[in-house]
Amino acid sequence: MDIGNSHHALRLETAVDLVNALTGENRGGMPAYLSAEEVERLAGLAVDLRAVIVALISDDHDGAAGVLNRLLADSDARPRLRREGDEAWHLTFHAPGADFVRKWTAGLAVAFAAVLGDDSAQRLGCCEAPRCDRVFIDTSQGRTKRFCGVACQNRVKAAAYRRRGKVVNVP
Ligand SMILES: [Zn+2]
Repeated sequence: MDIGNSHHALRLETAVDLVNALTGENRGGMPAYLSAEEVERLAGLAVDLRAVIVALISDDHDGAAGVLNRLLADSDARPRLRREGDEAWHLTFHAPGADFVRKWTAGLAVAFAAVLGDDSAQRLGCCEAPRCDRVFIDTSQGRTKRFCGVACQNRVKAAAYRRRGKVVNVP
């Protein structure tokens, strides 16, 4: 990852976690402290972010930009320097008074918009294992990651091994 973009890279990791938690084959769930309405809106955001990630994986920058522009507009994203108390000034992207979900929408949409077409966006991937569609950021040097994790990698390896075994056993 580009050091200068580490802030956005961190947000991309958050987005990937959100997409995997709320969309796809293996969705988990959200913390109980969120209201049903917040969870529903976050799930909508996760669906949009998955669409952005899938578009970026297939080099469909027009598609990604279309969804991102809608998210930026809907969340009224705008850059602003903020500080509270003794904090250092830091850059935020949500509109004044934005609620929790709009803050997330603004921050994550800006992060994707900032990396559109650069190295970070090209490291996004989707697991190739059957019955898995978890997305990930490939941080390997050669960009060789094909699976979301060791469990999927082992599952595919074991299946291939069994297939080879069967072929050998054919008389
Ligand atoms: Zn997987």
